Amino acid sequence: MDNPRIARIEWGRLEGRRPRHAGSNARLGEHGSVIRPPVARVTLEDGSTGFGACWASQEQAASLLGVRWNDVFSPAEGVAEPWLPFDYPLWDLAGRRSEQPVYRLAMAITGVAVDKAYRAPCYDTSLYFDDLHLASEREAAALIAGEAGEGYERGHRAFKIKVGRGARHLPLEEGTRRDIAIVRAVREAVGAQSPLLLDANNGYNLNLTKRVLEETADCGVFWMEEAFHEDPVLYRDLRAWLGERNLPVLIADGEGQASPTLLDWAREGLVDVIQYDIFGYGFTRWLKLGQQLDAWGVRSAPHHYGGHYGNYASCHLAGAIRRFTYVEWDEVATPGLDASGYTIQEGYVSVPDTPGFGLSLDEAVFRRAVETNGFTVSLQA
Ligand SMILES: [Mg+2]
Repeated sequence: MDNPRIARIEWGRLEGRRPRHAGSNARLGEHGSVIRPPVARVTLEDGSTGFGACWASQEQAASLLGVRWNDVFSPAEGVAEPWLPFDYPLWDLAGRRSEQPVYRLAMAITGVAVDKAYRAPCYDTSLYFDDLHLASEREAAALIAGEAGEGYERGHRAFKIKVGRGARHLPLEEGTRRDIAIVRAVREAVGAQSPLLLDANNGYNLNLTKRVLEETADCGVFWMEEAFHEDPVLYRDLRAWLGERNLPVLIADGEGQASPTLLDWAREGLVDVIQYDIFGYGFTRWLKLGQQLDAWGVRSAPHHYGGHYGNYASCHLAGAIRRFTYVEWDEVATPGLDASGYTIQEGYVSVPDTPGFGLSLDEAVFRRAVETNGFTVSLQA
């Protein structure tokens, strides 16, 4: 059967846990330790299946039933526009049907040669404001440095530190000083070679950004993410200031409600790293965007947090985009989702060469999720 119809879609939420509770960031409160990844499994009438992260409704799933495989996926473009809500299960299905890992399909589209032992560079994104209960700056810095050490033990060699404590959760001066002390302590804990990324979740302004980057100039900050809400005037100023000081800090932005003109500013050279969300923007669209960013000399580093599945999905995009910089790794274990083919060593994720996204679902756990919190839609026989 060359062109079977979509026969069944099952959807449910699994439940996973982070190894450590995640605190606040510059905008939001506690992120906690429980993650509830939504998973859809799509089955064709020939019995082939694929599964992946999916936020589609039951109505959207019902509308996919009966559609022919060649109308939902093409090897040259990926998932067809109307079916992008099912991007991940359909890519997984495409990989399984062709017995290839998704990264190979993606690389075939962008024309990048396949590396035999395929690895994707990653960073530990777990360093949140876990220190707000501590009164002492020294203790706060030691706590976050200790957390970075845990990431190092897990195989990470690049670390993102949430900053902007003075934006909301602490008084401005105290919070800013604490940010700086934490960056310095983490640098000391992970050694001179590990890239450090800062993420202010728009909690700084231009002057605060300059102050923090000046006072951490000897810490080798690799990128400054969402320093403030993106603004070409302020980014031009920041870029000129970085240039005068010979500070090779990259400007990263694009998660959340990014400015519609962000890509124009990237093309102009004001933004170095684009971070559209791996789910919100999606795999198929990222694959296209990544080629455009490559042509402009701009880096790709999709945002991913709180979805678990995105840790793996991002890895498959990494090889297809030349300037792909990092997978954002949010460590989670989700019973029912077997990711044992993936390992982190020396700052890289080793990606399994198994078909699709290289993950497997535990049948009993997934069925229970579908029955208790999800839905099934099927073609009438
Ligand atoms: Mg961020």
